Parts: sequence; C-alpha cells; structure tokens
Amino acid sequence: MMQNLTVLGSTGTIGVNTLDVVARHPDRYRVFALTGHSQIDVLAGQCRQFNPVYAVVPDDVMADRLSASLTNTNCRTRILTGISGLETVAGHPETDSVMCAIVGAAGLAPALAAAKTGKRILLANKETLVMAGHLFMQAVADGGATLLPIDSEHNAIFQSLPVNYAGNPQAVGVRRIMLTASGGPFRSKPVAELAQVTPEQACAHPNWVMGRKISVDSATMMNKGLEVIEARWLFNVQPEQIQVVIHPQSVIHSMVDYWDGSVIAELGNPDMRTPIAQALAWPDRIDSGVSPLDLFGQQLTFEQPDLQRFPCLQLAFTALAQGGMFATALNAANEVAVAAFLARQIRFDQIAEINKTVMNLAATQDARTLGALIEADALAREQATHLIAQWTGKD
Ligand code: NAD
Ligand code: MG
Repeated sequence: MMQNLTVLGSTGTIGVNTLDVVARHPDRYRVFALTGHSQIDVLAGQCRQFNPVYAVVPDDVMADRLSASLTNTNCRTRILTGISGLETVAGHPETDSVMCAIVGAAGLAPALAAAKTGKRILLANKETLVMAGHLFMQAVADGGATLLPIDSEHNAIFQSLPVNYAGNPQAVGVRRIMLTASGGPFRSKPVAELAQVTPEQACAHPNWVMGRKISVDSATMMNKGLEVIEARWLFNVQPEQIQVVIHPQSVIHSMVDYWDGSVIAELGNPDMRTPIAQALAWPDRIDSGVSPLDLFGQQLTFEQPDLQRFPCLQLAFTALAQGGMFATALNAANEVAVAAFLARQIRFDQIAEINKTVMNLAATQDARTLGALIEADALAREQATHLIAQWTGKD
C-alpha cells in the first residue's frame, strides 16, 4: 500500500538519505511534506523532484525565497512556516509516516505532534528522547503511534529484539544491550592534544558522513551518551543493562545479550540508508542501495571506552542516575557548547566542562509537562551561554 511520508529536516544528511531510498520505490512512498531550515536551494530542488503537497520553512522571508524558486515549474507545493507549520505536516490526517530528522531540541514539537496523532514515526532525532523521554514515550503510547528507531545502533537493537517486543526486557530474557561506538576520530589521539583540535578535524568522522553537530558529538562521545539515554527510553532498560563497546570498524551496529548466553547482532556497511529502509518498509524489506557487506579482509575489534578521554559519556550515565531535569539540561548545554566550538569560541575539551557544569545545576525533580521541560531547556541554554561569555571575556 502507498505510504504518505513527511520528512522533517529533509535537507540534512538523514533527510537526503531518506529521499534517496524513497526515490527507489515510487510504487510504495509518496512524499507528502518536506521541511528545511536554511538550505532553501536544496529544499527547492527536492520540491521540484518530489512535488510534495507541503513544504515548511522557518519564516516568511524563506517562504518568499522558496516560492520564487518554484515559479515557472510544475510544482504545486503549498508553503507553511515556523513550528506550527512543522506540527501541521507532522500531524496532518493525510500523513501516514513521519521521518523525524531535524537536529536538536527543535525536533521535539513536531515529533510530539506525530506521536499524538498516531503516526508511524521514524525517529532519527535522538534529542527528542534525551530531552523529553518520559513525555514522548507517553505521547506515543497515548496516541497509538508506532515508533521505529533510525539511529543505527537502536535500529540494530530493534532488529535483534523479538518481534513485538513490548518494553519488558525480563519477559523476553534480555540481559544487556551492547551499544557499539566507533570511538570517533580521536579514539587514539593523545589526550593532551585534544584541547587543540579544530572543528574540521572533529567533523572528519572515520566511518560515517553526518551533519556537523552529530559529528562533533561523536568526537566527544557525547553522541554515545545521548544514545545511552535514547536506549533507556526506547527499550525500557535500566542504565546498568547498557554496555558501551568501542568497535572502530562500525560493522556491528549493536547487540542484544540474552540470559541463555546468545548474543544477537545486526551487521552491515556503515550507511544510514540501511536503517532508513528497514524502518520505512518494516516489517517488509526493500532495497536501500547499500552495497552488500564483504567480510573478507575485515578485522572486527572491540575495546572498553576510556572515560578520562571521553567525560561526556560518563555525564550521560550520571544524568540517568540523577533523573529530574539532568538529561534535558545536558542536551541543551551540549547544543550550545557544540555551536560555540564550531564557531571557534571555545576549545574542544571545554564542551565537556560546559556540559558538566550546567547539568549539575539542573533540578532533581521530574518534569511531566512540556512547559516545564522547555523552561529547563531554556535555562540550561542561558547558563551555558553565560559560561561561554565569561570564558571568552565577552561578559
Ligand atoms: P543535519 O545537520 O545534516 O540536518 C539537520 C536538518 O534539520 C536539516 O534539514 C535542517 O534544515 C533542519 N534544522 C536544523 N535546525 C532546525 C530548526 N531550528 N528548525 C527546523 N529545522 C531545523 O543533521 P543530520 O546528521 O541529518 O541529523 C539529524 C538528526 O538525526 C539528529 O538528531 C542526529 O542526531 C540524528 N542522527 C543522524 C545520523 C547521521 O548519520 N547523520 C545518525 C543517527 C542519528
Ligand atoms: Mg548512532
């Protein structure tokens, strides 16, 4: 049956990969809506190719630009703006599936709209679960939505768990989840040199081509920390049931360890089109365009993560142990810190310092309303910004 698909963040790495898979299967998927933030030319090209019913941009200026580049084409796309535009297309009655591929906390509101309206949600935006795990999972349950993870590790775990896993690891004999991590570009760089690394070095990931924010997160291993929190919510496991394993080749995308000693893994080439195609077609299988895995000549190796080198990974476990607003604050502080690092305002090693300082200021009571979470997010951003201004002498 034809699926109407909305791609939130279609101009990003995940968005572009999603459209690559979709273009291979015009008989299965119809692009209903696309959204972009700054790369209006890319969005215009996508609109010309897929002729969606809607496109969403941040404001009227961008809407005029998009509209101008679509005149004299066959494209009949209607243009919406802002967060309300994102929520409209995510929750639209004609949308069947929503790919949530906006980066950062900006992805939360439309993901919630998709959850409340019972969509099939393809979740790449891990920040949604880090910032608002409890609230989001509740909205998915209440709205009757289907949640399919796109993050390659979580997609691998999803595939390695029994079909119809209902969030009870004990009931199906799961001992642990083994979350693999490449270790990023600085896995073996002397720790003393980490203070000097540049945004270009941090964004040059050895195995995956990704957006700049997640690339820096991979270099600090904050990404793996965010993924630990993501796994806690997606699969309802305790933090002590999650083991992080450094596996530099990124061939094993993660594993589930069962009480009988069986370990089930998903393997493949590191290409996000595999989890995207898996989630798009689930429970069917479709061609993703990814070349078959060639195991000959490969060496698969494993190491324990070094928490001295990667303090951000420890912060995520602390955030889970503390509960309350810790994860929300950690996520917000990290977004501000990574942006400052990319703008060359702070050093690489200062990202972890900002994250730690701001997270430790967070409230220990749980927030069960969106308003409280948004407030905690804003407060943490303010604290991080203030800290950076102090350090850079701009206060
Ligand atoms: P990206 O930077 O390449 O793309 C981000 C997208 O979000 C773009 O379309 C951009 O226009 C949009 N966007 C940015 N700010 C926005 C805002 N304020 N409002 C609305 N839209 C906005 O990022 P990416 O690498 O594609 O990652 C997207 C998400 O998927 C992230 O949450 C990331 O953690 C997750 N993810 C990515 C990968 C990967 O391989 N790239 C793997 C796993 C998970
Ligand atoms: Mg991942």
